[in-house]
Amino acid sequence: MRFHVMTLFPDMVSQGLAASITGRALEKQIFDLNVVNIRDYSLDKHRHVDDYPYGGGAGMVMQPGPVYDCYADILKSCKRQPRVIYMTPQGTVFSQKIAEELSKEEELIFLCGHYEGVDDRVLDEIVTDYLSIGDYVLTGGELPAMVMIDSISRLIPGVLNNKESAEYESFQDGLLEYPQYTRPEVYHGKSVPEVLLSGHHANIEKWRHEQSLKRTWERRPDLLSKADLTDQDKKYLEGLKKS
Ligand code: SAM
Repeated sequence: MRFHVMTLFPDMVSQGLAASITGRALEKQIFDLNVVNIRDYSLDKHRHVDDYPYGGGAGMVMQPGPVYDCYADILKSCKRQPRVIYMTPQGTVFSQKIAEELSKEEELIFLCGHYEGVDDRVLDEIVTDYLSIGDYVLTGGELPAMVMIDSISRLIPGVLNNKESAEYESFQDGLLEYPQYTRPEVYHGKSVPEVLLSGHHANIEKWRHEQSLKRTWERRPDLLSKADLTDQDKKYLEGLKKS
């Protein structure tokens, strides 16, 4: 898998992803990161890439030329035309489901905007997906691109080791994950739930599943309407509501 990132702040992206689990995977070449500075494609002697918005108003807009030339240069190294994802608060909100879908691609191009955003004509020409990381406005698309690359890359086989398994996690079955505990067995007077010490796998599975349902009902009840619930799950939730 190869991620290309078009940005005005390449260090922010390369340094951010060089740490921790993504950094280790990059070192092992489990996936590849190509961060490209859009400013390198400015034809302006001062390396400007932005200008005033037509029609007036506050802020600056990234010009189409450098963005397109940067994209065209990246394409030269691609086997097929990859999806181009523009980071924008106006996009579909990124989710685990989208991360799973994108993790199946061979290459992806992320376009990070800055200032008031990017001239719409070049977006129309090159962008295939408009994605947001939530309903708030950031100063640039670098953090959203890093969030997406982090979450997509951890689904690539080999990026996580056994200790960091993605086998069961929040959102995978439409529910939040059950609570987790580690040593010590008693902490500040609170014991680990007894069932987890029993060694009885079926009981542990049942307890974890019920805890997932309970936690989702308490913290993200909106998810339950979309989750694939069995009759037994529904009965358990009814019991919770009554109590
Ligand atoms: N004027 C734009 C608007 O109202 O839609 C916002 C521009 S924002 C200040 C600058 C850049 O940050 C955007 O072009 C986008 O790349 C990025 N950005 C800001 N918030 C974002 C979000 N929630 N998700 C993804 N990208 C975001």
